[in-house]
Amino acid sequence: MVMDQELVKAVTTDHNFRVLLLNGQSVVETARLSHHLTKTTTTVLGRGLLATLLLASSVLKGTEGLTVRLNGQGPVGGMLIDADAHGTVKGYLQHGQVELPFLANGDVDVASAVGTDGFLEVLKTQGNLDPYTSTVPLVTGQIGSDFAYYLAKSEQINSAVGVSVVLDEHGQVKTAGGYLIQTLPDADNTAIAALEERLPRLPSIATMLTTATDPVKLAAMLLPDEPVKVLSQEQVAFACDCSKAQFAQSLAGLSSSELRQLITEDHGAEVVCHFCGARYQFSATELQQILAEKGKL
Ligand SMILES: [Zn+2]
Repeated sequence: MVMDQELVKAVTTDHNFRVLLLNGQSVVETARLSHHLTKTTTTVLGRGLLATLLLASSVLKGTEGLTVRLNGQGPVGGMLIDADAHGTVKGYLQHGQVELPFLANGDVDVASAVGTDGFLEVLKTQGNLDPYTSTVPLVTGQIGSDFAYYLAKSEQINSAVGVSVVLDEHGQVKTAGGYLIQTLPDADNTAIAALEERLPRLPSIATMLTTATDPVKLAAMLLPDEPVKVLSQEQVAFACDCSKAQFAQSLAGLSSSELRQLITEDHGAEVVCHFCGARYQFSATELQQILAEKGKL
């Protein structure tokens, strides 16, 4: 079984842990190209997208969705990410063009880029029920541990979350991946202690993905003493559901005088989708139609 752009759900057969493994190379590379991101912001937004996919996959069902807002007051600004329960994610950073000095080992300085003076907010939409929001302060600005803190505080799920991105010298995404290891209620304390001791000493999951893409092998690197059983796997994608019709509705929300100004002074309008970078052009004639429809309401 090869892990190619997939999210794999597994359990250890001794019922100690539930494991999610994510190969998100194409998700992060698509985000990089869509938003023209730098090395710094590819890594930061990439980690956010991967962590949100893992979170969505572990807490959502059916048609539920979630929106993550993360802002640590750092130079990249805030991050807004949407994900559903089926492996689709989209999102953007406020300042996608920021590039910061790299750490001595060549890595992106994620914590400095994100900042630590801020919050992680998760809004869950659940069909017709009112959306549910929960917010926690950021603990490290490294994103993985911030999501683990959210899971512990807001969902009462004890977990370890690791997300990472490896870039080539041109800034293209070589590998990107994540894991979420959840401690099950009857987990053995010795096994938990062994995991806590091992995880900080392992290479990042994106580094592991440069040599192994088989989820069972990856799980064996993370949990060498635990037999793992794969339960399911699904594709993941960076994708947006925006459309020109949707932005026509937003334009209809402008006042008549604002629309007239766009028609007479700008002779049209260009609207950009923040989530995916898609650009939609509206000609003066199309804006006239929107204005005319508005008049009928
Ligand atoms: Zn879009």
